[in-house]
Amino acid sequence: MENQDKLTSFIKARFPYIYIESFEEDRIVKHIENIVNNQLKSKVTREILVWSQSSGLKNKNKAITNTKSPAQILEFIKKYEQSAIFILLDFHVYFGEKHRPGDNETIRQLRDLVPYLKRSEARKTVVFVSPELNIPQTLEKDIVIYDFNLPNLEQIKDSLNRMISVNSRVDSSDLTEEDKDKLCKAALGLTMQETENAFALAMVNDGKLNAKDIKVVLEEKMQVIRKNGLLEYIQTDLNINDIGGLDNLKKWLLKRNNSWSERAKKYCIPSPKGVLVTGIPGCGKSLTAKAMSAIWNLPLLRLDLGKIFSGIVGSSEENLRKAIKTVEAVSPSILWVDEIEKGLSGATSSNDGGVSTRIFGAFLTWMQEKTAPVFVIATANNISKLPPELLRKGRFDEIFFVDLPTFNERKEIFSVHLKRRLKDEEVTKDIKPDDENLIKYLAEHTEGFIGSEIEQVVITALCDAFFENRPLKFEDFVKAIENTVPLSKTQKEQILALREWANIRAVSASSKENTENYANNSDLNNDITSSRGGRRLDI
Ligand code: ADP
Repeated sequence: MENQDKLTSFIKARFPYIYIESFEEDRIVKHIENIVNNQLKSKVTREILVWSQSSGLKNKNKAITNTKSPAQILEFIKKYEQSAIFILLDFHVYFGEKHRPGDNETIRQLRDLVPYLKRSEARKTVVFVSPELNIPQTLEKDIVIYDFNLPNLEQIKDSLNRMISVNSRVDSSDLTEEDKDKLCKAALGLTMQETENAFALAMVNDGKLNAKDIKVVLEEKMQVIRKNGLLEYIQTDLNINDIGGLDNLKKWLLKRNNSWSERAKKYCIPSPKGVLVTGIPGCGKSLTAKAMSAIWNLPLLRLDLGKIFSGIVGSSEENLRKAIKTVEAVSPSILWVDEIEKGLSGATSSNDGGVSTRIFGAFLTWMQEKTAPVFVIATANNISKLPPELLRKGRFDEIFFVDLPTFNERKEIFSVHLKRRLKDEEVTKDIKPDDENLIKYLAEHTEGFIGSEIEQVVITALCDAFFENRPLKFEDFVKAIENTVPLSKTQKEQILALREWANIRAVSASSKENTENYANNSDLNNDITSSRGGRRLDI
């Protein structure tokens, strides 16, 4: 609602040019009609005229001759004597781009038109509607951007109800109110056109509309989100039991579940903003991000910040806006910014004309000020590349450090992977996935191993047995462990540096209880396995 009022204010305040970046031309025209009819309650009535390069200017579907070229339409607007809103579709093609010069004459003409739009007796406003945001520098001061929101749940429900009533041959008798709600929620984040396409697809599949179609709509949404190339919709069946150890981090996340519920409002709890999870690679940071989606039962979208900065797909600013809009539209949701340092490492350098710094600033501002229930989980391996502004209080609710797994944690990680892979009795025969003695042995002999190396031990043991076409043996594990050179050996210095950083800035993702056991169980007792990174707190 807030946004819609803003468009009314822009029109009332006589902003000459309003730019709306959207594919949804029909919805925008209807929205402006609604504003004119219901919100601009002044004595002057305003006409709505829509222009496109192919049909020229149209007034209530009647084409006005000699208005097709940009020079003609702008001249027409200048001379028009009645109050009106001119909606110009795809006019951005005359604005040029990075590698394509704009149409200088048109741009000059637009600047000349500004005083007429601001001060003529007739109240005239020009609204550009384009799927791309592309504003020439010389017009920056004269154009204001209006964010047109994607359809909300209510609008999606209206559209679904309308489609059900029109398509009387589709059997929707099995669709409960709850399913309908889920079906509509699945479409959040799509434009109205895409939403209607997804519903139509769900209907034509088998002539029925029921709970099964939620999957169809979700798949359509994944397609659409994938197309923009920056966000990935992640579906996973991982859950909290798939994460070995990291008890503090898990507890912290569990405590914040339902933070956006009505019950949380009664406690006046501020909505969580997000967490930054840093630490040693391969120890469960991404795993946690993925499992969170199941823990909180919220959609998870992974953002490739690197792609936003590189500008591989479209302009960086536009990309960030689009990504944020989509994540907000599917909210409550989780935004996973994977390897955030990769995207932000250029943010402090000035060799790209300040674009990185600007985007980084916009991202930080969004993080700080966002009101939509979007939880950010950022993961980072190389913290030395993170700009200090990102770590300032108020950005993230907490910064966690994931260290090498402790003895107890290694037991848990082995248990997770043994249970996951040792399923067939013929293969496992004498090895039981819940054998306490086996698990203890494995944990004792993998000091300094990271989570992914532990998983690899289980896989390698199974591969050997498979190769020799026989059941798994205890010796397979022994060999797999002996043949592993853990990352903690090869990257000792880096790990010690990470810990030093974490001791001041981060909280240990492992519980106090587990970390206290850490040194006690150390056979090697060298500096890698006797120290820890991150403050030890009980969450
Ligand atoms: P990173 O910390 O680099 O994001 P990942 O979370 O991608 O590491 O871990 C890689 C793989 O290693 C995971 O998919 C998982 O199979 C295994 N793994 C790592 N840490 C754990 C853990 N704490 N519990 C269970 N498995 C783990």
